[in-house]
Parts: sequence; C-alpha cells; structure tokens
Amino acid sequence: MIEARNLSKIYRMGSVEVAALRGISLTIDAGEFVGIMGPSGSGKSTLLHQLGLLDTPTSGSIIISGTDVSGLDDEERTLFRLMHLGYVFQDYALVTDLDVVENVAIPAIAQGRSFGESYAAARDVLERVGLGRRHHHLVGELSGGEQQRVSIARALVNTPSILFADEPCANLDTENSRIVLDLFRKINRDLGQTVVMVSHEPWHMDYFDRIVFLKDGLLDVERIREAGRWIS
Ligand code: ADP
Repeated sequence: MIEARNLSKIYRMGSVEVAALRGISLTIDAGEFVGIMGPSGSGKSTLLHQLGLLDTPTSGSIIISGTDVSGLDDEERTLFRLMHLGYVFQDYALVTDLDVVENVAIPAIAQGRSFGESYAAARDVLERVGLGRRHHHLVGELSGGEQQRVSIARALVNTPSILFADEPCANLDTENSRIVLDLFRKINRDLGQTVVMVSHEPWHMDYFDRIVFLKDGLLDVERIREAGRWIS
C-alpha cells in the first residue's frame, strides 16, 4: 500500500539546515493501523507529511497503491490526495461558518460529486461516527471531541485508501481521546481502513497493530503486535 524508500527531509532556513528525516524506509500494508511514535522533534509529523503528500521529501521515493507519487507534479498530487487520502489534524481544521454536514461534504463536492450525493454521503458517514443528530449545528457549537469526530467523518467521506492522523488527540481529554481512538479502531477493524497515526502518548500503543519508533530523524525500532504481545 505504502512503500517509502530512503526518505530524507532537510529544512533550510537561511544558512541553517535541519535534517528532520535522515533516510527512512518503511512499508505499510493495506488494513494496518500503524502508530508513528518517538520523542518530540524526532521527525514524526515530518514523516507523516511526506507519506501523506502534504510535503515533498528532499530525496527518496514513495509508492502508494502502485503509483510512484514522488514523480507527480503539484496538480497531480492535489488530485491524488483528494481521490485517495484522508487527513485528521490535531486542531480539527473545520470551517467554522459552515454546519456539520456542510463541513463533511466539502471533499465530496471537491471531487465533483453532485451536492445531493455529497450531502447523502456526509450524512451516512456522520451516522458512522455517532453524530447523526448533529447535522445542522455550526461546528463551534460542538465540544472538541465532537469536532474531532466531524473531522474524521470529513476524512472518510471519499472512502480514502489511507487515513492519516497527526496527533488527533492532542487537544482532547482522556475520555474524548478514547472515543476518538475507539472510532479509529472500529473503522480499521470494520471497514479494513488503513490508518497511519502520529502519537507521543504511550497509552495509545494499545490501539496500534504496529509501531514505528523514530529517533533523530531515523527509524529507531519497529514493533508489531502478535497474539497480544509486542515483538521487535
Ligand atoms: P515531531 O513530530 O517528532 O515532534 P517534527 O517532524 O515536527 O518532529 O520535527 C522534526 C525536526 O524538524 C525538528 O527539529 C523540527 O524543529 C524541525 N522542523 C519541523 N518542521 C520544520 C519547518 N517547517 N522548518 C524548519 N524546521 C522544521
């Protein structure tokens, strides 16, 4: 599903260079729920941004579902993201002037589906995240946990091949974090949704099938769960 080879990312600010990724190779299979973990500054968000085509690596290659996405131009990348990828961010990134169902319908409308079809898809996916009765609330009227569920619905409305989540619980209390993580696990188990999620909270490990630990821009260790135990 995702094959990343020797990814590096160097940020240049004037004469200063920061090597955020220093040669990372990894493969993620369809249907996996993968956690990207490691200390602050180890390159987790940078890696997620490269894998999710939100940024371009300095070197290395990424193949997603058989497409060499490293070779795409800006327009092709935008289209690829819209057709194949979904995103959940820590700050929800919702449009506050729109109501819940309108927010969720945006990516479907952007794909060129009719308004009727887009709103129907949005209503369906809102049911799935447990917000079937909140369609016409403005997003500012919802709690943080509910807003994050709206953003998960929006990420799912185009049935993406891969769902990327960057610290989706960073602004949530433990109870709402559990609701959001349970939801990720449910869509992963029930729909076979591939999920790649950045986290620095050790208790989130309970939810992942596999964990990629980063350290100083390098892949430090990978752990996989087998029969309820983590093995390296
Ligand atoms: P993590 O998500 O593990 O906390 P990041 O991927 O955000 O780590 O950052 C990795 C390194 O890259 C850090 O040293 C960070 O300061 C640096 N970095 C991240 N984004 C930028 C940027 N846009 N410009 C310059 N340096 C950056």
